[in-house]
Amino acid sequence: MINNFAAADFSMLKKFYEEAFQTLDAKRATPDIDVRFYPYVGINHTIRLRDGKIYVRLAEICQTAPLNVQRALAFILVAKLLRKKVPPLAVQIYQSFVKSREMQAKAIENKLAKGRKIITSPKGEIYDLDEIFARLNKTYFQNAIEKPILSWSARKTYRILGHHDSTHQAIVISKSLDDAKVPQYIVEFVVFHEMLHIFHPTTLRDGRHYNHTPQFRRDEKKFVYFAEAENWIERNAGKLKRSAKRKVKK
Ligand SMILES: [Zn+2]
Repeated sequence: MINNFAAADFSMLKKFYEEAFQTLDAKRATPDIDVRFYPYVGINHTIRLRDGKIYVRLAEICQTAPLNVQRALAFILVAKLLRKKVPPLAVQIYQSFVKSREMQAKAIENKLAKGRKIITSPKGEIYDLDEIFARLNKTYFQNAIEKPILSWSARKTYRILGHHDSTHQAIVISKSLDDAKVPQYIVEFVVFHEMLHIFHPTTLRDGRHYNHTPQFRRDEKKFVYFAEAENWIERNAGKLKRSAKRKVKK
């Protein structure tokens, strides 16, 4: 069982179930409710009543659903439990979320299928990512980061300088940086940024994902050549930098 949902989010979820009970059966006293996420495969949820208490088990995949979807799901499950008519709007909201998640899952699958082919090797013509990783891990993380798959990308991408893929535990660095004209501290900085994504996993708040949290940004500045690296990227990546900073080194 994985329960990395913040406590505040759980109390919010509980409120949705209470609201659903009060709305669908106002005469009934609202029972005590226990809501958890379970690593069910696919999208599958259960709700049951035992000894006057309600147990809700939601598929983990819905952990990242926005709050309006969580609320819609609460109404659907409670209506089913009470054998009441499920509010059509709730069904509509929930279904469109499921559909978009399926689309997303397919898109990620496709991306990974392509990504697998482009994974090459950590040893480039100029820089060795294994060496760089080991050095950074020792200097900045007390060797606490478990070694991911390290690879240069097959193609030289300029907008995307680095990428951390948490599903496959891989860090892929743009081949464009494996160049004698690129200072070593730049490659290190991009690898360091991706390592911080392992160190500070994505957090979820109000149904939104946060990759570059304030703690992440604070730690990023600990890189010895932080200012120089930012400058270099700015000068050399020019206009690309804005989108690069936002989307890229994700
Ligand atoms: Zn990033």
